[in-house]
Amino acid sequence: MDPAQNSCEIPGVQTTPNSPASPLAPAVFLDRDGTLIEDRGYLRSPAEVVFYPATVAALRRLQQHFRLFIVTNQSGVAKGLQTLAEVEQVNAFVGAHLREQGVNIAAVYCCPHQREDNCACIKPKPYFPELAAREHGLDLRRSFAIGDHLHDVELARQVGGTGVYVLTGHGRKHQGELNPEDIAVEGIAEAADWILQHSGLDAKTVS
Ligand SMILES: [Mg+2]
Ligand SMILES: [Zn+2]
Repeated sequence: MDPAQNSCEIPGVQTTPNSPASPLAPAVFLDRDGTLIEDRGYLRSPAEVVFYPATVAALRRLQQHFRLFIVTNQSGVAKGLQTLAEVEQVNAFVGAHLREQGVNIAAVYCCPHQREDNCACIKPKPYFPELAAREHGLDLRRSFAIGDHLHDVELARQVGGTGVYVLTGHGRKHQGELNPEDIAVEGIAEAADWILQHSGLDAKTVS
């Protein structure tokens, strides 16, 4: 399958304009399940979405300096456990809820395949960050990924950026598989702190 036809991208709202000194914007690529919302398995309806309490405030702070994207693997589609339409509905709900709270997600990218399909777009393959860079003019080397799976950290590394592993979701279960140099933090709030501090930005930035 052509991954571009299955990216279930929802149109986003432009966030802060690029600074004139830097024509390419840095981005944060956010995992969905176990990072922004509770990982409750293969979600089929917006009614199943439970945001972590810290998500909105963390994303408000990050969006002052970064374009925000969601990159999610939804292998339940390939496995027949959820339909692409159900996944797109959940993704649209997550984007809309965040927008209502003042958080602009520039695009939601979704891989509906499973690992054995050997598709181009499944994380940690860099397909979606590279697509986002072309579509939105991003500096991937100054960009970050946040997620509760090793492939989220690897996704950032694949494009020369930095991954931040969170211990929510499946994070604690696989923490032992991290490389010694990998960054692991408690959750989305601490991930935002870490990124703002290590980008030379003030972690105390008011949201
Ligand atoms: Mg996850
Ligand atoms: Zn895929």
